[in-house]
Amino acid sequence: MNRELIEKLKTLKDVKVVAVSKTRTKEQIDEVASMGLCVFGENRVQEFLEKYDPKYTWHIIGHLQTNKVKYIIGKVDMIQSLDSIKLAKEIEKYAKKENLIQKVLVEIKISDDELKTGLPYEQAMDFLKEMQNYPHILVKGFMCVATLTQDRDFNCKEFDQMKILFDQAKQQYPDIDTLSMGMSQDYEEAIAHGSNMVRIGRSLFE
Ligand SMILES: *Cc1c(COP(=O)(O)O)cnc(C)c1O
Repeated sequence: MNRELIEKLKTLKDVKVVAVSKTRTKEQIDEVASMGLCVFGENRVQEFLEKYDPKYTWHIIGHLQTNKVKYIIGKVDMIQSLDSIKLAKEIEKYAKKENLIQKVLVEIKISDDELKTGLPYEQAMDFLKEMQNYPHILVKGFMCVATLTQDRDFNCKEFDQMKILFDQAKQQYPDIDTLSMGMSQDYEEAIAHGSNMVRIGRSLFE
């Protein structure tokens, strides 16, 4: 557990911190929570359900299969990985059933890495428009995973592109207020380039 980093993250102004707890135990999660970070991000639904504790706030940050949506609605505060209409339809269906409004972030594929998921950047504004027809989904902003590279300038350009999209979307949709970008290796750059939510795993737990 990196106490020093936790203390530092807690002093960040106007930046929310999601502690990415995938592969970590419930005991580790409780320990981080006791130090004051209480929002946890999980990638996989099965693993999330095993560790779910209603005392904490949970975000799904990994690619979400439509057939898993029914297990998480009512338990997750935010789904950060909405990337298709098909998935939106399923979220709408179960959020309606549970009589709640599900907060989501639209995941944008900013990297051109073939393996990465997310909606193409160019489709983002049309997608937001379409989401206005889904009364049980509230889009709060965007999430992205930057290209895995040692080239910091390259990542900063990706963050800048995301910030442009975020500002554009915010003007049109007043509920949009969250730009989730930055992980252990690049969160400082991400914040400097407009992120207001970071998702930190490795450097926090190791
Ligand atoms: C694992 C993961 C993180 C955290 O990455 P670290 O390098 O462990 O900080 C953030 N976002 C997503 C989508 C992840 O899958």
